[in-house]
Amino acid sequence: MAKKNILITGGAGFIGSHLAEKLLSLGEDVFVLDDLSTGSLKNISHLKKNSNFHFIKGSVTEKKKLEKLVAKADRVYHLAAAVGVKNIMEKPLESLLNNLLGAEVVFEAAANRRTPVLFTSTSEVYGKNTNIPFSEDSDRIYGSAYNARWGYGMSKGVDEFLALAYFREKKLPVVTVRLFNVIGPRQTGVYGMVVPRFVEQAISGQPITVFGDGSQTRCFGNIEDVVGALVKLIDTPKTYGQIFNLGSDEEISIKNLADKVKTLTHSKSKILFASYNKIYGPGFEDMMKRKPDLTKIKKAIGYKPKKTLEQSLGEIIDDIHAQK
Ligand code: UDP
Repeated sequence: MAKKNILITGGAGFIGSHLAEKLLSLGEDVFVLDDLSTGSLKNISHLKKNSNFHFIKGSVTEKKKLEKLVAKADRVYHLAAAVGVKNIMEKPLESLLNNLLGAEVVFEAAANRRTPVLFTSTSEVYGKNTNIPFSEDSDRIYGSAYNARWGYGMSKGVDEFLALAYFREKKLPVVTVRLFNVIGPRQTGVYGMVVPRFVEQAISGQPITVFGDGSQTRCFGNIEDVVGALVKLIDTPKTYGQIFNLGSDEEISIKNLADKVKTLTHSKSKILFASYNKIYGPGFEDMMKRKPDLTKIKKAIGYKPKKTLEQSLGEIIDDIHAQK
């Protein structure tokens, strides 16, 4: 089979770089577009020796550059987006423009040649809905426009409408994937992600900082499970015009996560509780529970997460130790 030309926007980020690695291992030609705002050259440095790997520095808001790359591609994974609640609260304009402009250019350019696109959305689109588990047709409930957090989920939510409209009206083969808290080696804690932060804190003997009372829950999906599913989804035509939850449905409270990380790292760190107000400023709202219903993706591609939370944490701990 002839190798395919694959474009990954945001390919120097945590998820994108693992996806690039997987596609290279399958023998594909991989083009990564990344503005290195939250992605980094370090994430892709081990891929550069592969002659099938190509890196292009640029933003998804650079229309001409993006259009040219999409025109050459046989598949497009549109991952580029601002990451991390902390980052989004601090730079709302950049996150909104990246989310809104990038998706439109990718969808429009891909529609011309009906190139398959996989668009990564987020579990943030469910917003304040408290009815877990979330299934793909659950309501999306957002808070005040003055709270920058909701702008992220809402802008991704608009992109989802765009994807569905391009599918219906322009026959764009596009699949939308709502990612739920993906974790694995190379994820950075710099943008607020809880698992790398807790592991770093535990290993360095600093206090492990739980926000709120720690009763809020999350489900943490393993990067390898997630990347395997992304590759299957884009090559399964019945997924086009559809939305899928992706991640793990193993739920854990943040307090229990802190305990688990402490145990697995044999750390003597204290566990500290910090109020949301102190961390994010007044009026911050967290999601108290977040859990996906994975029935739809299981049925579509036989998705079955292989790694437990404990295995994922073990890999992350080894990775962070290796960097010391
Ligand atoms: N969190 C925490 N301590 C940290 C970072 C995050 O307690 O140092 C909490 C955060 O308030 C949230 C959960 O961990 O309830 C997951 O946060 P993250 O930013 O990783 O992802 P989110 O699910 O909020 O997008």
